[in-house]
Amino acid sequence: MARTFVCSDCTASSSEPGDCKCGGGALLDLDDPAAVAMLVEQDDRVEEKVKQRNLWIGVAVGLVTIGAVLLAAPQVIVAIPLPIPFANPIKVITLMILLAAGAMQVANAVLPARRKFPQLKQTVGPSSAVARMRGPQRGTLITVAIVGGFLVVVGVGVSVLRGIVGDDPKKLLPEKQGAEGANGEAETPAPKARYREADFGVVARGILTLRGRVNIGDKTALLYRAPSGDLVLCTVQPDAATSVACDELRLGVRPQTARLVEGQSEILIHGVTKMGQTPEETEYGAFRADGSSYEGDIGALTMASDRPTLPPASATWFSAELGGKKTSLTRKPSGELELTREGDEPVVVVLDADRGGPSTGQPMAFIGTSAVVVVFQTKQGLSGVRVDANDIAPL
Ligand SMILES: [Zn+2]
Repeated sequence: MARTFVCSDCTASSSEPGDCKCGGGALLDLDDPAAVAMLVEQDDRVEEKVKQRNLWIGVAVGLVTIGAVLLAAPQVIVAIPLPIPFANPIKVITLMILLAAGAMQVANAVLPARRKFPQLKQTVGPSSAVARMRGPQRGTLITVAIVGGFLVVVGVGVSVLRGIVGDDPKKLLPEKQGAEGANGEAETPAPKARYREADFGVVARGILTLRGRVNIGDKTALLYRAPSGDLVLCTVQPDAATSVACDELRLGVRPQTARLVEGQSEILIHGVTKMGQTPEETEYGAFRADGSSYEGDIGALTMASDRPTLPPASATWFSAELGGKKTSLTRKPSGELELTREGDEPVVVVLDADRGGPSTGQPMAFIGTSAVVVVFQTKQGLSGVRVDANDIAPL
């Protein structure tokens, strides 16, 4: 094989020894291991410099990005789930390292080191390859160790400060009278709720339309129409063992004409039993919930409105005295349904639909003497909660 001579500067090659035309000095013999080792080392130095620079690019990208996120939207980092102590500093450090590593990889791909003699790297034996790695890469390892150590120190420092001053960084500053953190709520992670969506059973399926409401003693009768058009009657009695009971009605009346009857000692449903050609030919009837016919004077009955007034939309579902303690159930703007009892810690009952709980629409509260029942609509149907002096439980 012909011998090859190369210039270490401009990489020009020649089959004859001598000086290079570029002025870079004598051409080197590639058959000479010492000359090859020198060329490889020269390339290694250049490559190491470029990798070092790319590492710093990565670190800068990581620091700047995470710093910007911390300043602009710290809740993004708080929202990442990680149930361990010092989770937030660890998340910050991990994200910085991952971003730095990623940006470094990108920089290595976009701005790679250009070896003058890439073919020579392959010809060097394994023992000298290991030897080569030790030297130049030590610098990289030391740099990584310094950066990692710095981030760990920052993280530990943040954690220790957290332990002393809590999660409110404003406590580090001299206290100002009247200055309060209005956006502190965003930093609070979702609280643990007592119940999950699955704990809320339905007393009647589907999205129901309220078509009547009458009070009979300590009982409230609610007449609904189901999506199928069928009539559903619910009786609510907060103090009773079964506080809410719903039944689909099978009556002789046309569902769209059904109305509850007011001022009676029992639940009666009045409506058209037979539609005639003229008003005179139309027949009416009144029935009990069990389907039996009311035999009294139908003409003397007073019908309840088929568009009962719903309570005004309010964040406070009810506020009442239970067991001698002022008790209230409130839906907070953040979506938690919260029970507060005088002298007790508030209890988060359930989180709203966006956070995995039932959608809690159209709450209607029924206040008894020993218990309160709130009926509301979920995606599955009519559901509710019962609160007494000691407990709160889904229906
Ligand atoms: Zn040259």
